Amino acid sequence: MEEPRHPVSGIDYPGTFQEFDQWFSNDNACVEYIAKLRWPKGFICPGCGEKTDKPSLMGRGLFLCRKCKRQTSITAGTLFHGSHKPLRTWFLAMWFVTSQKHGASALGLKRVLGLGSYNTAWNWLHKLRRAMVRPGRDQLTGAVEIDEKYLGGVGTKVRGRGAKRKTIVAIAAEVHGRGPGRIRMAKIPDLSAPTLRRFVSKNVQRGAELRTDAWSGYNGIEVMGYKHIVTNVSDSGDPAHVVMPRVHRVASLLDRWWLGIHQGAIRPKHLDYYLDEFTFRFNRRTSTARGLLFYRLMEQAIDCRPVPRKRIIGGQTQYMVDG
Ligand SMILES: [Zn+2]
Repeated sequence: MEEPRHPVSGIDYPGTFQEFDQWFSNDNACVEYIAKLRWPKGFICPGCGEKTDKPSLMGRGLFLCRKCKRQTSITAGTLFHGSHKPLRTWFLAMWFVTSQKHGASALGLKRVLGLGSYNTAWNWLHKLRRAMVRPGRDQLTGAVEIDEKYLGGVGTKVRGRGAKRKTIVAIAAEVHGRGPGRIRMAKIPDLSAPTLRRFVSKNVQRGAELRTDAWSGYNGIEVMGYKHIVTNVSDSGDPAHVVMPRVHRVASLLDRWWLGIHQGAIRPKHLDYYLDEFTFRFNRRTSTARGLLFYRLMEQAIDCRPVPRKRIIGGQTQYMVDG
């Protein structure tokens, strides 16, 4: 396997906190790191297109184009845009979030960084979660199990009116040997066919084989370009966790994480952010290098563009099902 390379020092990310501390001892070091990731082939001026290997750094992360004299902020269009806090503090937050197995709480982040307020820490965590999953990229392929789950709900799934007030999460899990491969999750407003189709088309590549139970919301989904294998759970004689073991494994981990780490205290309107974090960790659960998670999050933080939570498409509200 190819080793990750850092454009400056040979590897892409620090392996330990001691290394992290040396690499990013001040804000200039952070600026240079971002610059190497953003402009691996040298700085390109967004004003005049002038390309240079050595742009003038004017401090505070501003680069000066020698040709048109335009100043470009290294953080423009990134997650760090508009923040008055030092970049090193952001880097520390990202290290803290990615180096812990189950992530960080706002209280923990506030304490470690010495941030003034709980709200700041909370906002930072949400910004970082926002960067953890890139919408519309890397769709799931191959055979994919799809199911929905009532968050925090136990026992059998009742898709009737009684479940109306509960929060529903749609889950897609690639079949990877006997276990799950990559996953995608999203909070969904209901179990209707349009909602489920939207979730599938956003998260699963066309041509994939969808495996679902016999819920009517999945009927006819093959017209969208998928293969569709239906298992009628009640007819099969096996409970759902036997018929779709991977997605049910993910669902039970999600429950444990949600109840254990966050004490079930996530408000439904913020749930998507937490699902993003869960997905980010789950899809990278086999990487042993914690620094690699930091690096991936950094890449995505730099590439991050704000996504509106809702878009109006054709006069209807389209829920974004990022994952
Ligand atoms: Zn220029």
